[in-house]
Amino acid sequence: MSESLKGTEILERLSYSKKNVFEEADANEIKAIYDYCKGYMHYLDVAKTEREATAEAIAMAEAKGYTEYKFGDKLVAGDKRYFNNKNKSVVFFNVGTDDISEEGMRILASHIDSPRIDLKQVPLYEDSGMAFLKTHYYGGVKKYQWTATPLALHGVMVKADGEIVKVCIGEDDEDPVFYINDLLPHLGRKQAQEPLGTAIPGESLNILVGGLPYNDPDVSDKIKLSVLSLLNDKYGVTEEDFLSAELSLVPSFKAKDIGFDRALIGAYGHDDRVCSYPALTALLDNMDTKRTVMVVLADKEEIGSVGITGMQSDVLTDIIAMISKSLGVDPIIVRSKSKCLSADVTACYDPNYADVYEKRNSAMISCGTCMSKFTGAAGKSNTNDASAEYVAFVRKLFADNGVIWQTAELGKVDCGGGGTVAMYIANHNIETVDLGVPVISMHAPYEVVSKADVYSTYKAFCAFVK
Ligand code: MN
Ligand code: MN
Repeated sequence: MSESLKGTEILERLSYSKKNVFEEADANEIKAIYDYCKGYMHYLDVAKTEREATAEAIAMAEAKGYTEYKFGDKLVAGDKRYFNNKNKSVVFFNVGTDDISEEGMRILASHIDSPRIDLKQVPLYEDSGMAFLKTHYYGGVKKYQWTATPLALHGVMVKADGEIVKVCIGEDDEDPVFYINDLLPHLGRKQAQEPLGTAIPGESLNILVGGLPYNDPDVSDKIKLSVLSLLNDKYGVTEEDFLSAELSLVPSFKAKDIGFDRALIGAYGHDDRVCSYPALTALLDNMDTKRTVMVVLADKEEIGSVGITGMQSDVLTDIIAMISKSLGVDPIIVRSKSKCLSADVTACYDPNYADVYEKRNSAMISCGTCMSKFTGAAGKSNTNDASAEYVAFVRKLFADNGVIWQTAELGKVDCGGGGTVAMYIANHNIETVDLGVPVISMHAPYEVVSKADVYSTYKAFCAFVK
C-alpha cells in the first residue's frame, strides 16, 4: 500500500464489514423503505395460507396484465403469463426478447406455505361440555407457542360433487376466533419440569370450537351437533365433508409495526412471504425487462418441498421446457445458462440467544438481504453449496446496483440447521444461491423482520431481473 495512506484508510480499503441499511440511507430512501413495507403488510394480512397467497399474487399480476397459462399454449417473446398450480402454488414468467440460448432465464424461487396447525380428516368431537377439532401440525412448530392464543380457521372443504367451499373465520373484527387450551400454572408443576419439546404433546393441540348444546333433550353429543348445525347453515356442509377438506389454524392477529420507531414488522408467516412478496413485486415493477424471468411461489417447503405443488415437482422444469420449445431452443441448454436466487429467510442474530450464533457469520438485523452460500446441518449435509464463481457474479450484480447485502450461515456449526428449495433447483443444472430476509423468532406464531431488510431484498431482486 502507498506510504502516504493512514492506517485508518488502509483498514477501510482492505477489510470487510457489514453495513446497516438504515445508516446508509438518506431520508428519501428511508421513506421508500417504510412505504414499500405498507404493501407488504397488506399482503401478509390477506395471504396467510398458500391458497390465499396464490390468489392474491395472481390478482396483483393480472392487474399488471399477466394472463393465465395452460400447458400446450404457444408462447412468444413479450408474453407475461402465470401457471396456477392447483390453487396452491403459482409460477409467473415473462418471456423476454433476450436470446435464452445465451442468457438463459433468471429465476426467483420462494415459498408461500408457513408452519401452522392443520385439521385431521375426522376432527370434530365433544368432551366435557366443549366441542373440539383434532389437529396434526404442519412444519416445524414449537408446540407450546400455539396454545392460549387466538387462531383463525382458513381453507377449503370440497364437496363430493366438486363444489369448493372457502372457509375463513377469525380475521374480521366481528368474527369469533379459535383456541388451544393450556394448563393453569397452579396445576402445572409437573408440566413445568418437562422439556419444551414434550411439554405440549402433538395430540393435545385440540382446537376449542364450541360450548352451546343443541336444543333437543333426546340427542347425544349436543355441542358437537350444534357446531355441525351451524356449519351446515353457513356452508351447506356435513361432517363427511371434512374428509375432503384442507383446513388450517393460523394466528388471527394482523401484521403490525414493532418498536417506537416502527423499524420492524411483526407478523405471522414472514417465512417465506417476506421473500415471495419482493420476488413478485420485483417482477411486476420491471415490466420492460428484456430477460426471460420466472418467479416461483411454491408450496410444501415447510415439509420438504414434496408433492405436486412442491419445488421437487416436475412443474418447474416442465414450464422451462415449454417456454424453451416455444422459442425454438433446447431446454437443456436454457437450464444450463439460467441463474436462480432461492428466495428464503435465514435466522437473524439475536443477542438474547447469542450462544447458538457465531456472530461473524450470522445475519445481522437491518444489514440487508442475506446470502447463504450453503445451509444444511452437521457438516453441510443436505445443502446446495453455491460455487464461489456464482457468488462472485451476484456480488458484482449487487455492487453495480447499490444493494447493501450480507452473508450468513444458519447458526453455529453443529447447533442444528435447516434447508431451502435451493438444492432442488440446483439439481436441474441451474446455478442457485440462497438469498433472503433475516427473521427473528422464525416459525413462531408472530415473527419479526426489519423493514430495511425487506426493502433490500426487493432491490436485490430488481437488480437480478431487470
Ligand atoms: Mn422458508
Ligand atoms: Mn420455514
